Amino acid sequence: MTATFQPASTAPESPTTGQPALHGPPARAAESRNPATGELWKQYPTANRAEVLAAVARARDAQPGWREQPLAIRIRALRRFHDCLYRRRNEVADALTRENGKPRAEAMGTEVAIVLDYARYYADHAPRFLRAPWRGAGPLATKRKRIRILHDPFGVVGIISPWNYPLMLAGGAILPALVTGNAVLLKPSEFTPTSGALLAELFRDAGVPDDIFTVLQGDGSTGAALCDAAVDKIFFTGSVATGRRVAIKCAEKLIPCGLELGGSDPAIVLADANLAHAASGIAWGRFSNAGQTCVAPKRVFVEAAVHDAFVTALVSAVSALRVGAGDAPSTDVGPMIRPDAVITLNAQRDDALAKGATLAVTATNSTDSAHAGNFFAPTVLTNVRADSRVLTEETFGPLLPVINVRDADEAIALANASEFGLSASIWSRDVARAARLAERIEAGSVAINDAIIVGGMADVPHGGIKQSGYGRSHGMAGLEECVRTKTIVADQFASWRQAWWFGYGPAQTERIDAFVRMAHGPGLGDRLSGIVGVLKLLFAPQRPI
Ligand code: NAD
Repeated sequence: MTATFQPASTAPESPTTGQPALHGPPARAAESRNPATGELWKQYPTANRAEVLAAVARARDAQPGWREQPLAIRIRALRRFHDCLYRRRNEVADALTRENGKPRAEAMGTEVAIVLDYARYYADHAPRFLRAPWRGAGPLATKRKRIRILHDPFGVVGIISPWNYPLMLAGGAILPALVTGNAVLLKPSEFTPTSGALLAELFRDAGVPDDIFTVLQGDGSTGAALCDAAVDKIFFTGSVATGRRVAIKCAEKLIPCGLELGGSDPAIVLADANLAHAASGIAWGRFSNAGQTCVAPKRVFVEAAVHDAFVTALVSAVSALRVGAGDAPSTDVGPMIRPDAVITLNAQRDDALAKGATLAVTATNSTDSAHAGNFFAPTVLTNVRADSRVLTEETFGPLLPVINVRDADEAIALANASEFGLSASIWSRDVARAARLAERIEAGSVAINDAIIVGGMADVPHGGIKQSGYGRSHGMAGLEECVRTKTIVADQFASWRQAWWFGYGPAQTERIDAFVRMAHGPGLGDRLSGIVGVLKLLFAPQRPI
């Protein structure tokens, strides 16, 4: 059943419905509220600085035991986590919908299902990654050596996560960290504490010891305390501004961090694209999760030949969307979780309109449960001026500018003219051409004929360049980010001294020069003379040292 939805342009910018305030000043307790209604349904004690330090110390004490466990034990914990999450999937999806506002289909499809994938992927692939066989050395001078590259866990790692995909983003960082032998402290977003609490239950039920996985509830001050504590690495996902603060703290302590930050992903629609498919995919990419997706298409560049037809298809797709509470069965687009998001989105849209943009469509359908103050109606803008905020800033909500471009070259130039470089998409029937164009896009990933997808695939690296951050999650890259490599080099001859050790003199100089000719000489003559020189001098007396 649908009802007329009050578009955000006329909606109040703050909740004024008599419901409790959605999110006031930083709470002593982390509050889980339904963003569609303002309902407070759970509260969690937050960790102050001293409690964060104590939790890190306990993790530090416990981690060696976890690391020394046979890998099979850690893998079994991941498989049990998978099974626990699978069994509780409906309860978890319901909680995500209630706390985060996303439609139930998204809670199951883009959070639970993806974390199940991650758990299985890392359980299946960790053994191959962590295997450290002895092997021979490459360069001629070190042929006597045997080599082993170990992947040691960092030790104690902190994970700071945002609210938009609270299960998926946290899970994608926790699982590889645990299986590689790290102790993990998770600081979930203050807007989604229940998701963090559920992860704590699921890992406990999977057999992960308490101090090996700890959830620290709280706001930015708890996150800052975690960065100040004696952790060995921080994995941060969130805004550029906070990411920069985290990176500075980590730099001061000389500890590494991974930063998954904001994006303003381009979608390029080529003239040969299936326009209905592109419009439908871009509408889903942009407006699912109420537009609060880091890798959503946020700027669409359309070749002039199909611009108008594409806009018509997009307007039709967006007009059909229904806005409402996530638990209403027919809701497509849920509420904004942060009330300040509506204020920002209104300002970004109004800035574009003031600079001459055209409002192509604002979705007006809603499910009965729509709560006007905390929703932003899906909106498409055309004729957008290049200096508009919707193009120069990240838009973190259901607001989409479409730009008419001459050709693919102009689209790529404009796509790359951004401080962000998270992900991108290209829409075309000519996949080979799209793949060639993808190589020219400045981004951590490019999808062809799909949107968002890379961020949710267990087996491919995800991450950004430029202001979108550094480091990679997911796939084997996700495991690499959780370990330090340690090289062991063993000489098989315990009593045969190396030719380059002390004992310098004409004979040794000649021997080394002969060796360089043998190894690197450009012609056969140089090599042969090198070999002869090495053989001749091999047993020449050396100054014993
Ligand atoms: P945010 O930066 O406000 O908060 C993220 C986390 O950092 C929260 O847990 C918060 O409590 C914590 N935090 C706040 N101040 C802190 C401090 N000084 N020190 C340590 N931690 C602190 O971001 P948000 O609003 O939760 O998330 C939205 C942003 O995240 C968007 O820009 C979005 O694009 C980005 N994001 C990026 C990715 C990615 O994979 N690149 C994924 C999801 C979201």
